[in-house]
Amino acid sequence: MRSWPAPEVPRLSDAGLPAAARPLSLHDTGTGETRPTTPGETARMYVCGITPYDATHLGHANTYLAFDLVNRVWQDLGHRVHYVQNATDVDDPLLERAQQTGEDWRELADREIQLFRDDMTALRVLPPDQYIGAVEAIPLIVEMIEKLRGRDATYEVSGDVYFPIAADPAFGQVSGLPRDEMTALSAERGGDPGRPGKRDPLDALLWMAKRPGEPGWESPFGEGRPGWHVECSAISVEYLGMAFDVEGGGSDLAFPHHEMGASHAQVATGERPHARAYVHAGMVGLDGEKMSKSRGNLVFVSKLRQSGTDPMAIRLALLAHHYRADWEWTPAALDEAAARLGRWRAAVARPSGPPAAPLAAAVRDHLAGDLDAPAALAAVDAWAAAGGADEAAPAQARAIADALLGVTL
Ligand code: ZN
Repeated sequence: MRSWPAPEVPRLSDAGLPAAARPLSLHDTGTGETRPTTPGETARMYVCGITPYDATHLGHANTYLAFDLVNRVWQDLGHRVHYVQNATDVDDPLLERAQQTGEDWRELADREIQLFRDDMTALRVLPPDQYIGAVEAIPLIVEMIEKLRGRDATYEVSGDVYFPIAADPAFGQVSGLPRDEMTALSAERGGDPGRPGKRDPLDALLWMAKRPGEPGWESPFGEGRPGWHVECSAISVEYLGMAFDVEGGGSDLAFPHHEMGASHAQVATGERPHARAYVHAGMVGLDGEKMSKSRGNLVFVSKLRQSGTDPMAIRLALLAHHYRADWEWTPAALDEAAARLGRWRAAVARPSGPPAAPLAAAVRDHLAGDLDAPAALAAVDAWAAAGGADEAAPAQARAIADALLGVTL
């Protein structure tokens, strides 16, 4: 599928600032540790995309902004970044929504994906190099299920194909959760632990036989459609290979989605790990509850944009919270962000300011330490509040905010 247009990212060396040195450390859910990432010349990242029936609420935006910072910090360190994202353009929630509203599921998906592209463009989120829909990835997904079948890691229940978790000795490596918690989360997040005929309640659906009135594609396992986990697993392995640097998403994806995706990939390829770090963003709540489609308490980026909110203020409101934190959205957060944006814009419009090299060092340092964006914003606040005679500094500060935080002033 078409990605979205890339915003220009200034190079801080071109603005007369020194090069970055400190590697990016990120919290890896798999090990529970914050460790330096160690990409080669090209850093490789996969971030799970939307299921396009209701794009883009602030919880989504919060997640994609976190990984946008990863992308920006790596680029600032001189890496090329190979970034891949999917869009789950055929799955239960999408088909259910289309059925409810009487809309064609393809039209619903196309419209919501375009809205998502527009939101990401407005928020200046760097686009993936490959933006891959589940439907267009079906040949890759079938190929991965064939590989699993060749390794005796599939079985059927009434025509549906499952992956036995027993096939992966490393199963549990991503979430590290106790089994009863896995079972509860599986039921809550689209799994079917209670289905009779499964070898293990946690076994994941790879291919669902065509149901009446639903779309289906021909495959060696009969006409049907892919499961969700194998979609991301197949797309990531195809475009990034194994042992890529970061797999990312919201914290509700750690189990079962990333756990299953890792097991599928590892069993299919015979290699491990799937990703070197599994990185998860916190959940944004509203009125005491996680923002989610099922609860219907969503604040949409597009609605805020339509009401005239500066997308850079939305960006700052989200970056004011650490990416791993769970937090509550309030309209006041947007007012504070708009005020901060105004102070920063006034500061870079001055003829001179305090030297910007220490600001670059501070912002880089905070971001390198597991993306401490709130501390990075505070460093820009301090620069903006101070006076100084350095005439190059305002333009340099503008470049720092743009390159590292994605905020144009
Ligand atoms: Zn995914």
